[in-house]
Amino acid sequence: MNGLMMDFQLTLPTLVRRAEAYYGEKEIVTRLPDKSFHRYTHGEACRRARALAVALQGLGLERGDRVATLCWNHHQHHEAYLGIPCGGFVLHTLNIRLHPSDLAYIATHAGDRAVIVDRSLKPLLDQFVAKTKIEHVIVVEDDYEELLAGADPDAWREPDLDEDEAAAMCYTSGTTGMPKGVLYSHRSTMLHTLGVAAGNPMGLGISESDSILPVVPMFHANAWGYPYLATMLGAKLVYPGQHLDPESLLEDFVQEQVTWTAGVPTIWLGILAMLDAEPARWDLSHMKGMLVGGSAAPRAMIAGFKQRHGLDVVHGWGMTETSPVASTAQLVGDLKDADEETQFDFVAMQGLPLPLVELRNRDADGNLLPWDGESMGELEVRGPWVAAGYYDTPEQADRWTEDGWFKTGDVVSIHPKGFVQIKDRSKDVIKSGGEWISSVELENALMAHPAVAEAAVIAVADAKWDERPLAAVVLREGQTATADELRAFLAPSFAKWWLPDRFEFVTEIPKTSVGKFKKTELRELFSGVPA
Ligand code: AMP
Repeated sequence: MNGLMMDFQLTLPTLVRRAEAYYGEKEIVTRLPDKSFHRYTHGEACRRARALAVALQGLGLERGDRVATLCWNHHQHHEAYLGIPCGGFVLHTLNIRLHPSDLAYIATHAGDRAVIVDRSLKPLLDQFVAKTKIEHVIVVEDDYEELLAGADPDAWREPDLDEDEAAAMCYTSGTTGMPKGVLYSHRSTMLHTLGVAAGNPMGLGISESDSILPVVPMFHANAWGYPYLATMLGAKLVYPGQHLDPESLLEDFVQEQVTWTAGVPTIWLGILAMLDAEPARWDLSHMKGMLVGGSAAPRAMIAGFKQRHGLDVVHGWGMTETSPVASTAQLVGDLKDADEETQFDFVAMQGLPLPLVELRNRDADGNLLPWDGESMGELEVRGPWVAAGYYDTPEQADRWTEDGWFKTGDVVSIHPKGFVQIKDRSKDVIKSGGEWISSVELENALMAHPAVAEAAVIAVADAKWDERPLAAVVLREGQTATADELRAFLAPSFAKWWLPDRFEFVTEIPKTSVGKFKKTELRELFSGVPA
């Protein structure tokens, strides 16, 4: 017998209608390029988002067409987050930190037809746009206002959206091979928003009375859902624009009475250092905490914020493929009364899954591993906001198990209390300041150098960036090359921050029985990290 309830579609226009009706007066603030503040309301943002949808329809774009953004975190990007999917198009956030050749590939693969770009990022766009099928370039500070002015938000007719239609997409370079597109649906986005709201990490859950500043870029996995969460709850939003240095962020926190913020560890390490240097300068007594994820939040940083500044770090884990938030630190049961040091031990783990997300840990033979805090296997995840496949990339189907779980590539153990702890990574990548560097691409490029016989690139621990690339290089007999020469050889093909800091010249690269580079051994050799 079926239930007898409405088949109500979970689509983003519901959030817009709600924000306009109930939270129209709540504020959205942006730090502009000249460091002044732009202020308006959720109501105005929603109205302009509708105008954007009408304008895009007017450009002749059709249902399901991809509209890219190449932007910092600001209110126009927020409007794109709402207006593009509500107009029946797919918001495709392009990562401004990628090399133009990767961006050309990604925009072409996605089939982007239009792009909204910050004036400051137009030079980057100019380096790859001609290689794509993009027909409409809309510069935020110029054409965007004109486009909106010519569109009547009241001419808006909501397309009859199905909840399974794509709302947004984001490419991830998280594993080897070409970047892969994760395609979020309206339904997955709505459920992720509800899931994040229901997560209530460490009892610090977000509500209408919060002031949220997402430092996490809007070009990363939905800015961890904050634009949608704030729209759903009517919370104040503060966008930092391009000013992501610790001082500017601390100014924003104080002036805009920010209660909740989120980003990768590198950002928070910088902020902690500034707070430590001048604790009396910043009054953060209104702040509840910060979600830190994307890379492991160091325990010493978690303890530093709490003990020296009274601030709670909520550690979260997720992936582009999981929308992205999948687990957060939770001090549940007797942990609430545990001593501070024990609490830090738990917060330093990757946490417990959000409601509706399921996690399991399996060994290479597919056996489920016990929750003993020791047995290590690959973390697998499933849930309504976890990707079921990559866009137009059938060769990646083996990232999913036969019974439909997504294989994360993170090597974990699970504590008896259910806490996931990441121990290693089976994917061959380096995560520096929250952004991926492909070791395989660097190796291939290095091995194209005439003096290089073999090259393996590994991650070594770094206090500021979490990880940095190190290249182990075997030179051909009779040939020479210096680290500087090799770096200069790579420079034209890669973003500057991809270039290895260290080159180690070795006589051979250790190999596994099947002839693959044995990176565990290299890591042990050069960073002291045990295999
Ligand atoms: P991305 O798709 O760029 O968000 O990267 C997802 C990957 O980042 C995960 O599979 C992990 O390898 C890593 N990651 C994310 N959050 C954490 C965390 N809290 N601790 C350790 N690694 C993390």
